[in-house]
Amino acid sequence: MPELPEMEAWRRQLDGPVSAFPIAKAGPAHIATLKTYDPPLAALDGRRFSGAERRAKRMLFPTDDGELVLMVHLMSAGRLRYVRPDDKAPKTPALRLRFEDGGELLLTEGGPKKRAGVWLYRPEQLEEELAHLGPEALGLGADRLGEILRVDRRQLHPLLRDQRAIAGIGRAWANEILHTARLSPFKLSTDLSDEEVERLAASIDEELARGLELRERGKKDEAVYRVHNRLGEPCHVCGEPLRRVDYEEHTVYYCPACQTGGKVLKDRRLSRLLR
Ligand SMILES: [Zn+2]
Repeated sequence: MPELPEMEAWRRQLDGPVSAFPIAKAGPAHIATLKTYDPPLAALDGRRFSGAERRAKRMLFPTDDGELVLMVHLMSAGRLRYVRPDDKAPKTPALRLRFEDGGELLLTEGGPKKRAGVWLYRPEQLEEELAHLGPEALGLGADRLGEILRVDRRQLHPLLRDQRAIAGIGRAWANEILHTARLSPFKLSTDLSDEEVERLAASIDEELARGLELRERGKKDEAVYRVHNRLGEPCHVCGEPLRRVDYEEHTVYYCPACQTGGKVLKDRRLSRLLR
């Protein structure tokens, strides 16, 4: 699933093109993709987006009259792109939105499952919809992070991924961040020293900024992730083989030498015996 660096890189790409011309026709959208019906998508026709914005892993396209906001959540396999007037476009995207110059904003989804979503809101509806999200991860800072860590006694990996606590980090960047911070994925949030909180806050910024910079240059996963999905490969810091541990529905990658004092973590997948 795209996380903050991926979404922010796409947002920067889309910001100019989506606001260059008014919308000629919004829709059609796949019935499973469009999650709202009031206001209808056609309410966008003739209006103009002010640009592309982002909140957590969601992309937002507000109209320049301040009345409507189109929200897109890509989930795991969605892709949002702008296709120029003469470029070849897929025939049945999950969402098609045509601008007056013939350019199109298209949402496509790899695989048969329709998980990505499109919502059209009035600003007050959007505010309510996003109210549960925690502060943006990038630029959070040690003070604010320290407060979040102290709210509950929770393991770091699931806490970092919890959008209600901190917005924008998923499992891939949680792996990268905790590795850079030299902290165990299962360390308890209330057990961190002040120095560790500062290290974690700095690692969040450092890793998300590194990811954003690489994604803006069009780099793929293999060139971006140094820990995530790299089981058995040498740690880029110490050279020890990276490990993975199954945790509930997630797989966590880490370096025992850098993060857990050499300790190999045991699987915590409750459903393991049932498979
Ligand atoms: Zn290491």
